[in-house]
Amino acid sequence: MTAASQPTILTPDEPGIARAAVILRGGGLVAVPTETVYGLAARADSDEAVASIYEAKGRPSFNPLIVHIADLAAAGRIAVLDERARLLAERFWPGALTMVLPLRGDAGLAAAVTAGLPSVALRCPAHPVMRALLEACGLPLAAPSANRSGALSPTTAEHVRASLGGRVDAIIGGGACELGLESTIVALREGGGWSLLRPGPASETEIAALLGPQDAGASVAASIEAPGQLASHYSPGKPVRLDAETARADEFHIGFGATAGDASLSPSGDLAEAAARLYAVLHQAAASPMPRVAVAPIPGEGLGPAIRDRLSRAAR
Ligand code: AMP
Ligand code: MG
Repeated sequence: MTAASQPTILTPDEPGIARAAVILRGGGLVAVPTETVYGLAARADSDEAVASIYEAKGRPSFNPLIVHIADLAAAGRIAVLDERARLLAERFWPGALTMVLPLRGDAGLAAAVTAGLPSVALRCPAHPVMRALLEACGLPLAAPSANRSGALSPTTAEHVRASLGGRVDAIIGGGACELGLESTIVALREGGGWSLLRPGPASETEIAALLGPQDAGASVAASIEAPGQLASHYSPGKPVRLDAETARADEFHIGFGATAGDASLSPSGDLAEAAARLYAVLHQAAASPMPRVAVAPIPGEGLGPAIRDRLSRAAR
């Protein structure tokens, strides 16, 4: 399809999902709402379909994709699950936790999904539309965020249309994403250790309560293993200054709590609300005439570290 044409907008109901499943089974690209952000889905077992995800996003081929599955049984057909994986799945699935696990030899995925790594990232999502789509397709779906590589993640169908437009075959409209932040990514090591590759809605504290403390030196391992986490990311396309109580004359000020700003992540200082609104407010900052962005301080508890992680990448 040409970049000039516009994607079909599908309704998040049975006919819309059935139509999306036909497109996906045929090797097409469909943007779909999830509880984290909108995903750009393609069948994970097709080299061509997976290649078109990288092409539509302009994503570097060394940055592997998360594979979405309907349940633990489907996960077990793709990756080697141990007791720790079962514990995490029981606690967090369906939901916003991605596990990096040893890839099975007979997984049947396109090689590009894992960027040639011997591991695979798996998530069982909770959003009813994404779950219905997985069921209707009967296939694992590779799905990174539905935006051009390096740009802001989409939390509405309109964000997807503005970023990818005619590069996708269809978008399932499903309203704003509830969590608004990408999943937590945990790598389970074959030797018994684990490390957090990306902070997110599933907290490190809760994971450590189940698995024990994270590996020492984990962040070094993560930087080698998940190259996507290294690059500047989530960029509004202009300089971003963090921990700004006040703004300068040329800055769009993003507020939080007592700091009102030009737009607030959460006037009441609620971190869940701030996470859900983060990308919408960053999109607003990107669209404003101001050449720079300043962001109020965000506290370090609860969802704070995940929000600060995205903001610090936006500021790089
Ligand atoms: P995104 O799809 O943009 O939300 O990002 C997915 C993230 O998962 C990327 O940063 C990848 O580097 C990471 N990832 C996916 N598969 C693996 C893997 N097998 N090992 C380590 N990290 C992975
Ligand atoms: Mg992304």
